[in-house]
Amino acid sequence: MQKKVIQGGVLLDGTGNPPVKDAVVVIEGNKITKIGKKGEVKLAQEKNVDIIEAKGKTIMPGMIDSHVHIYTDGETSGFTSLPINYNELALAMRSIPRLKKILEMGITSLRDGGSGWGWLEVALRDAINRGDIVGPRFVTSGYHLTVTGGHGHFLPPWLASHKEQCGMHCDGPDEWRKAARLNIYNGTDNVKVVASRDIISPGIATASQPTLEELTAAIEEAHKMGKGAIAHAQGPDAIQKAIKAGANSIVHGFFLDEKSADMMVENNVFLESTNLYVKRVMNMGKGELPDWMVEKAIETWEDKKKNFKMYLDKGIKISFGSDCGVPFLKQGDNALELVMFVELGMSPMAAIVAATKTAAEAIGYGDKVGTIEEGKFADIIMVDGNPLDDISILSEVEKIKMVMKDGNVVITR
Ligand SMILES: [Zn+2]
Repeated sequence: MQKKVIQGGVLLDGTGNPPVKDAVVVIEGNKITKIGKKGEVKLAQEKNVDIIEAKGKTIMPGMIDSHVHIYTDGETSGFTSLPINYNELALAMRSIPRLKKILEMGITSLRDGGSGWGWLEVALRDAINRGDIVGPRFVTSGYHLTVTGGHGHFLPPWLASHKEQCGMHCDGPDEWRKAARLNIYNGTDNVKVVASRDIISPGIATASQPTLEELTAAIEEAHKMGKGAIAHAQGPDAIQKAIKAGANSIVHGFFLDEKSADMMVENNVFLESTNLYVKRVMNMGKGELPDWMVEKAIETWEDKKKNFKMYLDKGIKISFGSDCGVPFLKQGDNALELVMFVELGMSPMAAIVAATKTAAEAIGYGDKVGTIEEGKFADIIMVDGNPLDDISILSEVEKIKMVMKDGNVVITR
């Protein structure tokens, strides 16, 4: 079996353990088989060994972004005209180079938070797994389930019955149940429910639209089939309803209060806090997006500045989820979210754990990837410099010197 040895760098294993200098990581086939320090790990004089020198670099697990929308690429005013200009096949084709770009930025696992559009995520995931196209391990969610007129359905009402879109309208527990079944039937790994509105949908962002019964019906179907359930939720009412309904992850969680935080911890629910999304709409939205979106983003950022530390103090499991695809967030810029984590009060080490171990657990891959441990798949990156000193290097293309997925070197720089 082909053996690879990465040696001489500083190892950050993704668990939060202190860095290890002069580390050695041995990879056989697609698995990590040995970890130690230089001089400690005895390498037999075998022929079939590739040595990867890591002196001056940091070795860490491939990052995991638990929340993107691959069918979009940061469009602003063009976002709502997508269905007019493209069909689902065109959007799938446009997603192919984005997946490659994301992987080459060191993100070796990726979860789509719901792209819909003919279940293009499922087709893309299967193409990656067959080796037809290049991309991270890709976890899919399909169409968002939302009430009639709810967030996640971006077409105007006179086009509401148009089939090509990212959300599915459903009303009443039976329709929510059926929509969840339809997603699973089409091969998704998760069911995504929309429990509230949003800063980019008109009206009150925290308005909690579906009933507890509707959310529960869809989530029950997901769990029955061994799938995850992700809930878009903003405001305590929607967040708490989604937790009661059994959601595994809360996306956004804006205006999360202490009671909701306690419930998240008690129920082991992950949070994708999508901070970069808010910051970008706030700072770049003026003139590009309607004023009301920018105003809602400003209000949300104020709340984050006040409350993000509370999330950390309560011990909520925060998972790196960039929401790339939404206005101003181009695919490939995903790791800029980690800079937001640090700006809002997280330590760089905690930000790295959020982007590796915790995100792996959030997407259901905790036993496979997310840490550099013996027996796990060899998804490893090598970074120029130390992200504990400057977290932003994880989002700089020239700093990501090597990306390995499943034991194969995808790119070196
Ligand atoms: Zn999203």
